[in-house]
Amino acid sequence: MLNYYSDHIAANIITIDWEIIPLDLPTVSKKCSTCKNNEFECSKKFRVNSNKKLSDVWLIYKCTSCNSTWNMTVISRKNLNKISSDLFDKYQQNNIDLISQYAFDKGLLKKNKVIIIPPLIQTLGPDIKEIINYPSKYVDLNIKLRYPLNISVKKILKEKLSITVRFLEEMLKQNVFIFPDNHNNTIFKVLINLENFRKYYYTSVES
Ligand SMILES: [Zn+2]
Repeated sequence: MLNYYSDHIAANIITIDWEIIPLDLPTVSKKCSTCKNNEFECSKKFRVNSNKKLSDVWLIYKCTSCNSTWNMTVISRKNLNKISSDLFDKYQQNNIDLISQYAFDKGLLKKNKVIIIPPLIQTLGPDIKEIINYPSKYVDLNIKLRYPLNISVKKILKEKLSITVRFLEEMLKQNVFIFPDNHNNTIFKVLINLENFRKYYYTSVES
């Protein structure tokens, strides 16, 4: 896992995890034909239509202004034999994990011609007060996303570490490596040189 670090770094390293979780399901940008509002929220309910051998499944959205509904197609005219009974039960029980999976599925949303409006997020894991006191020289920070989201790693670092933009820029110059620098990945790794970080942190707090 740490083969990209030299041995002396690995010996002084502590690994910590942050997990980014959405505070709600994303809404979607779509024009309402009733009231001309431009946003729909997920009702967290499926609509299932099965007759004879074929099945349709939709995820129901509601206009945030007038409550008009819009059905997002999940499955269209699919042979019932090809849907596992486990999956079919989840549709009928409005399984929230499955609903979340679809609500964050950019490919599915695109197919339905709507654009995702990202929800507010929260970052779980050790914060600045904990990190600053670690005895190690380096912090190997793994940032995980529970669902695929377009996030700015810089923004997450700035908020979770309670630091200014200027301080973050200093960190990026000297303390931190971010990789991969690719917003489509679900995991970011950040290596923080804690000795430098402490020095900058206490200097910036004092000034
Ligand atoms: Zn409306």
